[in-house]
Amino acid sequence: MSFKESIVQSAEQRAFLTAALAWTRRPDERHAVRMLRSPFSGVPQELGAAYAALSASEGGLLDRVAQERSLAPFAASLRELEKIGDGETARNEIVRRFQLEADVPPVAVERGELKLCEPAVPEPRLGMRAARPRFSASQLNAYVECPRKWFYRYMCGAVEDKGSSASFYGTAFHAALEALHGEFPRPGDAEPAELSLKLEGLVNSAFDRHRNNFETPVEYELQRRRAQRTAKKYVEWLLAEAKRASFTVVGCELSAELEMEGYEFIGYIDRLDRDDKTGAVAVIDYKTGTIATSAAEYREKIRQFKDFQLPFYYWARTAEGDKVWKLALLPLKDALLDVQPIVLEVVPVPSEIGRSQSATGVIPLSELERARERMIDICAELTAGTTAAFPVTTDPSACTYCSYAIACAGRPYPPDQRFGR
Ligand code: SF4
Repeated sequence: MSFKESIVQSAEQRAFLTAALAWTRRPDERHAVRMLRSPFSGVPQELGAAYAALSASEGGLLDRVAQERSLAPFAASLRELEKIGDGETARNEIVRRFQLEADVPPVAVERGELKLCEPAVPEPRLGMRAARPRFSASQLNAYVECPRKWFYRYMCGAVEDKGSSASFYGTAFHAALEALHGEFPRPGDAEPAELSLKLEGLVNSAFDRHRNNFETPVEYELQRRRAQRTAKKYVEWLLAEAKRASFTVVGCELSAELEMEGYEFIGYIDRLDRDDKTGAVAVIDYKTGTIATSAAEYREKIRQFKDFQLPFYYWARTAEGDKVWKLALLPLKDALLDVQPIVLEVVPVPSEIGRSQSATGVIPLSELERARERMIDICAELTAGTTAAFPVTTDPSACTYCSYAIACAGRPYPPDQRFGR
């Protein structure tokens, strides 16, 4: 180690030791945060920064680090030091635990004058790889939307997603529909009034199970009523579909597992229908958030490798021996609109995408094959261990609801905000 490097080391060690001693005297989170951000904490820098930022806004640092497995040794050390008291014993214990130099050398200071040192030379970055090589379409969607977001969510797991009223609305609605189709797998055979009444009851009981997750009773009630109005539209659509061509719901929340070129994928299909006449199946994905407004727009997202959900389900069911003829996104967000799914019929021949605003369209098999190849390429990238840093997105809209925005210094700002920051 050169002289200058040793000065830097000394300063950092001294700062760490000072913060740790302060912690033994008074366990204040500010001291713990200073320790966490130091290279001597033994915590990876990105992870330390994320937790420090989170604790600055929401507090509860100790509880958070205790729950994160990779930070458990650091959390345990803090707890032990809390008990050890002040003085020489504490100092020796800190030096031993965090492998500091026993006699931390002083920082070079001459006659009260602070001697600045050269910045530390950064260590060469090492490549990272996905720790658990099991993928889902939503994981790959997150990666193509923003590689940094993927890193935060799937490699660090740094921020717990507490859910939102929109996500609890979706969970409760999915549960109600699963129960409905478990009881009425052939909606065309059911009495319309009975179907409607049943779904009303199921929506009420599903929302009741999530009552405490909503922030306020008013929010709960608003979301429940929204679901009830949407449920009525759903039943109208369901009966019209069954009248047009009878079908059987053969599965809800169906596990979809697939291995492609050695990469394992997993997901859950919201609903799988089998056409009573042809035996072909349709994959239905319920959407309680914003979706494409036309079949052409959704197909374009698949072509640009921005969405892998339905292509993945297509390949998973095809591997199970099904003939998949239709992929559909079913919007359940807006209670004021009729339920109008975005449908792509799978066709074996190439087809122009067109500019139609129609909710129904086609998708050639070749485009689903390209999506599958891209999924495999992404998995190869994520498991190669050659990625030293995951870049941030260039699209500011991806950051709007990102749970990691607080820890993400490099996020792009919308053009109208760039000069204001
Ligand atoms: S805030 Fe934006 S740039 Fe940062 S991780 Fe989230 S989506 Fe990516």
